[in-house]
Amino acid sequence: MLRASVKTLSGMHPVIVGNEILSCLPEILREYDVGKRIFVITDKNIADLYEGTIAKILTSAGIETHTCVIPSGEEYKNLEQVSYLWDWLAENRAERKDTILALGGGVIGDLAGWVAATYLRGMHLVQVPTTLLAQVDASIGGKTGINHPRAKNLIGSFYPPKLTFIDVSLLISLPERELRSGWAEVIKYAMIYDYSLYNYIANHLDDLKSKDIPKMLPVISRCAEIKLDIVTKDPKESGLRAILNYGHTLGHAIEAATGYSKYLHGEAVAIGMQAAGLIAKEMGLLDEESLQLQNELIAEFGLPRYAEGIEAASVREAIKLDKKIEGGKSRWILLRAIGKAEIRSDVPLDIVELAMREYI
Ligand code: NAD
Ligand code: ZN
Repeated sequence: MLRASVKTLSGMHPVIVGNEILSCLPEILREYDVGKRIFVITDKNIADLYEGTIAKILTSAGIETHTCVIPSGEEYKNLEQVSYLWDWLAENRAERKDTILALGGGVIGDLAGWVAATYLRGMHLVQVPTTLLAQVDASIGGKTGINHPRAKNLIGSFYPPKLTFIDVSLLISLPERELRSGWAEVIKYAMIYDYSLYNYIANHLDDLKSKDIPKMLPVISRCAEIKLDIVTKDPKESGLRAILNYGHTLGHAIEAATGYSKYLHGEAVAIGMQAAGLIAKEMGLLDEESLQLQNELIAEFGLPRYAEGIEAASVREAIKLDKKIEGGKSRWILLRAIGKAEIRSDVPLDIVELAMREYI
């Protein structure tokens, strides 16, 4: 009966989506041949909420389960934690046919994912995302890695999971601000790829804003499907995958300029999408009405309208750094319409400056 409510998306790797489907986890792990011995990696906040339940579900299905809990927070996505986890796997004699189960948000997904990629030259990996951002984005597509003192996500590898298992009911405990940050990425998918998703969100605002989990399911499922579709078509980001960076050129710069402390990722991306919208309008790509619809949706979810208390100069510097990486020209993802994005390297500087004055 419960299996009927489990949806399987296929592409670069399978993604299983549903509401209150945790009890199906052992059966699904076995189906994909990753249910022999499980090494759960999670963070303190999530362990307090879910570790007991998950361990019980796995062990009562006869699966040998080990769990390691690391502190919560982006500052722990580093080599020290990786080393600690390698030691733990060695102590417990983990083997290549065993599975690492990353239970958490994007931090745990990236970190545990890279541990799985590197230990014994690659163990099985299963992603069980617990934040909205991780369910619609970070747990899909195989990017894993850690931060370096010089830059975010500098070390890592492409290592797709054997499967991603999304149970939307895990979001019930997610703090409001984290949820809001995830909504920015959801809005991003609608803007770059899917006008009907935009319509759905706009027509179900009250349910979605009130955290009605069953009503969130189709939205999360559609976003996961879009991400999977894009990364399957362009696994190593040689073209199309770059549209996922909509709102991120300025968003990343805002995060970097504020030392990753003032704005959550999605909040910075929300500001970045509004600025990119203005740029697209100024370049004659996007009409005024579509821009307004985008900005109204962002406001509905309580995301910031502009960045406060930041030096425009430091944001400019951060954009320039982005520029270096991408071969001389700053790359912007711009909309032609809601649901249609393109990659542009020809944005005039005066238009970027105009957007900076408006949003920074
Ligand atoms: P996060 O993993 O830090 O989680 C946010 C906070 O919520 C943490 O304190 C966590 O303990 C807590 N939490 C998680 N799930 C919870 C739940 N269900 N209930 C209560 N609390 C919960 O942050 P995030 O926003 O999920 O991820 C951000 C990270 O994701 C960044 O490091 C970013 O680089 C990475 N990322 C990776 C990709 C990718 O493709 N690999 C894509 C986007 C982002
Ligand atoms: Zn993002």
